[in-house]
Amino acid sequence: MPTKPKMPESFSKSVDHMADRAFAALDLDPGVASMIKACEAIIEVNFPVPIKGRLEIFTGWRATHSTHRLPAKGGLRFAPFVNQDEVEALAALMTYKCAIVDVPFGGSKGGLMIDPAKYDRDELQLITRRFARELIRKGFISPSTNVPAPDMGTGEREMAWIADTYKQLNPENLNYAACVTGKPVQHGGIAGRIEATGRGVVYVMREFFRHADDVKAAGMSGGLGGKRIVLQGLGNVGYHAGKLLQEEDKAKIIALIEKDGALINADGLPIQQVREYINAQKTIKGFPGAGFTENGSAVLEMECDILIPAALEAQITDENAGRINTKLIVEAANGPVTFEADEILRARNIAILPDALVNAGGVTVSYFEWIRNLSHIRFGRMERRYDEMRGEHLIAAMENVSQKQVPDWMRQEIVKGAAELDLVRSGLDDTMRHAYQELREVLRSNPKVNDYRTAAYVVAISKIARSYFDLGTY
Ligand code: GLU
Repeated sequence: MPTKPKMPESFSKSVDHMADRAFAALDLDPGVASMIKACEAIIEVNFPVPIKGRLEIFTGWRATHSTHRLPAKGGLRFAPFVNQDEVEALAALMTYKCAIVDVPFGGSKGGLMIDPAKYDRDELQLITRRFARELIRKGFISPSTNVPAPDMGTGEREMAWIADTYKQLNPENLNYAACVTGKPVQHGGIAGRIEATGRGVVYVMREFFRHADDVKAAGMSGGLGGKRIVLQGLGNVGYHAGKLLQEEDKAKIIALIEKDGALINADGLPIQQVREYINAQKTIKGFPGAGFTENGSAVLEMECDILIPAALEAQITDENAGRINTKLIVEAANGPVTFEADEILRARNIAILPDALVNAGGVTVSYFEWIRNLSHIRFGRMERRYDEMRGEHLIAAMENVSQKQVPDWMRQEIVKGAAELDLVRSGLDDTMRHAYQELREVLRSNPKVNDYRTAAYVVAISKIARSYFDLGTY
């Protein structure tokens, strides 16, 4: 991932400005607009943890942007540059994101100012558990009101520690596992959560390419096969999205930008091998069969069909937006394009599929995990074998009537009962397709809306405003 850039304006202001375009298109009362934009609550905690015999003080935040639906939901980020404004901006994005994909949650986000690479596993466990305890005690983590998830610098391991800390403090709460999502499968996690955000990115892209008009409006034709993609970031989101695009959709990842430079290969990079190389070497430098440059920012401006920023916020700013040379930007990261850059790109007619839609696959599958935790049973456990038995009966009946044998491959397809992973992927695919179609509808029907981002905010804000209205808030 590239190093943290200077934000031209605050991240939360950038998100608000983007929402303002939708408020204008919706003619909403300014008071309602202010209410929707405002962050309901934010807590800062400072706590000491003994590290190698010395006390270190850590600072973290958790913002609850909205609670029109509960719990409020959103990741917990561990990074050295986290700050309050960033956490508030990301919490607001969670509110809009959940509304876009019809996940019945409010928006929240948390951050701990830490460089996880500087600590060993035991130290990180101590720090995470202590941070979790602070947030639990102050009501900022609970299965019914505020549910964190993985984000940059955190994963299954941290979520398991948080769930266990909550369980220790609330042993009587049957639903303790639902206090956090993104847990390991053996501790109440759900199959397919790790890949969910990256897979969701691809499901949105596939839906975009199903609409020839949309593809044409972006200056392209055909499907994803053969499209030349520049990918920034091979973290959890970039890796899964890039791998699927390359292996299943036959797109070409012609360049990959990482924190220490970029790899380039016009014929396409083998994402799985690059990831294995990074895991072993801790750098992309030296990866065989690809060109290398230390100048990652130049590669962001390389000519391509699709640019996927899947790393940090504020990668495309007013400084480089004029030189971006792509037809479509797919925002897999949160906030990779600043408000000023967005204005420039819109004027240049570069289509942008916005973060609040594109990366909502993570929270969608988090929602499935939360439901699984509350129902205390794996999806598919009751019906899988029953479905298989019915499939067998169906085949027996077909063979009986036709006096012909059903080929083996067809038998397997018909008989196979859905496992949890099949159901999760199906639910995710349906969610992402439906969300894209809703945006598309707004884009076509509201003359004041002429870009995907504003359409996304219009969809989100209409639902949120309606929700507050139904609750009698205004
Ligand atoms: N951190 C992810 C996001 O930004 C996931 C949030 C969640 O699953 O609650 O969307």
